[in-house]
Amino acid sequence: MNFTNITVAGSGVLGSQIAFQTAFKGFNVSVFDINDEAIQKGQDRILRLKRLYQKDLGASDEEVNAAYDRISFYTDLSQATRDTDLVIEAVPEVVSIKTDFYEKLGQVAPEKTVFATNSSTFLPSQFAEATGRPEKFLALHFANTIWKNNTAEVMKHPGTDMKVFDEVLQFAEEIGMIGLPLYKEQPGYIINSLLVPFLEAAQMLLANEVSDIETIDKTWMIGTGAPIGPFAMLDVVGVTTAYNITNARAQATGNEELKKLADFIKTEYIDKGKLGRETGEGFYTY
Ligand code: NAD
Repeated sequence: MNFTNITVAGSGVLGSQIAFQTAFKGFNVSVFDINDEAIQKGQDRILRLKRLYQKDLGASDEEVNAAYDRISFYTDLSQATRDTDLVIEAVPEVVSIKTDFYEKLGQVAPEKTVFATNSSTFLPSQFAEATGRPEKFLALHFANTIWKNNTAEVMKHPGTDMKVFDEVLQFAEEIGMIGLPLYKEQPGYIINSLLVPFLEAAQMLLANEVSDIETIDKTWMIGTGAPIGPFAMLDVVGVTTAYNITNARAQATGNEELKKLADFIKTEYIDKGKLGRETGEGFYTY
């Protein structure tokens, strides 16, 4: 085992899950958040996870209580990182917040400490300099509901030490994840690099009136043996999220086809309240 003491920074949706999963697998975990109110909310989130681990994983009272007892809560960053081996950062997806956080962290954390970002959309090289220790910094990206969807994408930036990369991959396995190595930086990691163009291609076929929703899904399912097609998948992801991604890509690239697609999804689905499975209707009605 390369790491023993783990700090999780940010106790929101993902931070609380990472903290509890790590403690559940036997590590000492320090959780850091910005103030008493935020840390209290984080504590409540972690307490709610106990029940989910019992329901979904069949964990016993003893197991979830022992996991909770291995977690300590802090609003002081130097206390939260005292003698820590690895800091997993899950603070908001805002460049300035992350940059400020790494500048402070780099000053107070011990020299040995490795830093990992759980950022979904930024590249680790964006923050490497701010950490003051680029060779000990990389991305460790989890999926929401990590105890069930246990992928851990471990992604280097050009300056990450290979030894650190291997240690973090091993740590991911030690906390019950499937460690997935990415040797080069890639926006969207592996999953979204595959999924985003695939889902956009399906929506293009619809927007260009090449075929209809059912036929496109059926073709994919019969042709590949997949259990669901792209439109059923889009309804699970949420039409708004899919729209936001396409719209951002359209703005960033100036691609006219993507712009037309984003407009089509907005007028035909979002403006009509067809937002996906959660709202009862998206591309399909539920
Ligand atoms: P969230 O808004 O639920 O939680 C963010 C937490 O960070 C809050 O508790 C907030 O109080 C705290 N915070 C704010 N400023 C801080 C600071 N300066 N220092 C420390 N803590 C601070 O966000 P989230 O959904 O948990 O996302 C966190 C990170 O995880 C983001 O980088 C996001 O891209 C990534 N992520 C999210 C998901 C998801 O499904 N939500 C999935 C994978 C990765």
